[in-house]
Amino acid sequence: MSTVIDGKALAEALRSRMKQAVSELQAEHDIVPGLAVVLVGENPASQIYVKSKARQTVEIGMQSFEHRLPESTSEDDLVQLIEELNHKPQVNGILVQLPLPAQINSERIINTINVNKDVDGFHVENTGRLSIGSDSLIPCTPAGCLILLKQTIDDLTGKNAVIVGRSNIVGKPIAQLLLKEHCTVTIAHSRTRDLPSVCRQADILIAAVGVPEMVKGDWVKPGATVIDVGINRITDSSGKNKLVGDVHYASASQVTGAITPVPGGVGPMTIACLLQNTIIATCRQRRVKLPEVTT
Ligand code: NDP
Repeated sequence: MSTVIDGKALAEALRSRMKQAVSELQAEHDIVPGLAVVLVGENPASQIYVKSKARQTVEIGMQSFEHRLPESTSEDDLVQLIEELNHKPQVNGILVQLPLPAQINSERIINTINVNKDVDGFHVENTGRLSIGSDSLIPCTPAGCLILLKQTIDDLTGKNAVIVGRSNIVGKPIAQLLLKEHCTVTIAHSRTRDLPSVCRQADILIAAVGVPEMVKGDWVKPGATVIDVGINRITDSSGKNKLVGDVHYASASQVTGAITPVPGGVGPMTIACLLQNTIIATCRQRRVKLPEVTT
């Protein structure tokens, strides 16, 4: 019988610890961490994420600064806003919601964010630090995946981990984190040959592809732990809209030892880890000790 990894419950527990950390920072150092979220354009999924991030930021007692800019915003105007936020002492974390409109170079924008306020962990310096295993702000979705795995598997050492997807924001940082945990890591992608048999080698299989229900049950090694990062909106055979992952849950959950559902798996962990990163960033900027409950 496969265990369902409850990301919703784990995220709630993490948020409640972050709330306690914020209250300790305020009581002991008179510090209220602040997170600025910048949204350019009207992408409906991005609007939902930004609203949710702002709500959860306020719920744990932090300050939220929302900046909504029109779709037509120029790259230079966005750079100027980020430079202002870089210099604002009340803003400890800056997140620019991706994807950005086509006229804006995302790489330039991400690398304009002060590396110490880069709570998404996408700045090239944080990415480089992660790849050499040194201290960095870790991208939120990969950090959430690692927490889910550590809750499920006592010791990751020596496990065969296969990650399907090599994006800079999900696949590659997950690979770095798992290497740090001493897994043997394979990164698969759209040019990988015989993907099902590569997946069948995995003790830990992570799907971060963006193709609805691509990973089938017969791709999964019996007893493996499967983390499904995918969030895909589809219309089912009865015409109803629903969210599915990159894993075919019904067939895979017959074989897995443990699996994350979609929704309710990786998704909720991402925002909880963003709150955690904002607290970590705040403590580093203000040179105060991280409340114990945060670690
Ligand atoms: P990207 O589109 O940036 O990357 C997708 C990766 O999957 C690429 O490396 C691509 O390979 C690979 N890929 C695509 N098709 C196939 C295929 N048929 N076979 C094998 N590999 C394939 O996506 P992201 O990494 O940004 O996101 C991945 C998924 O995770 C999406 O569903 C997204 O919605 C979800 N997501 C969820 C988050 C959460 O909070 N839960 C946060 C971020 C993303 P190649 O490089 O060769 O093109």
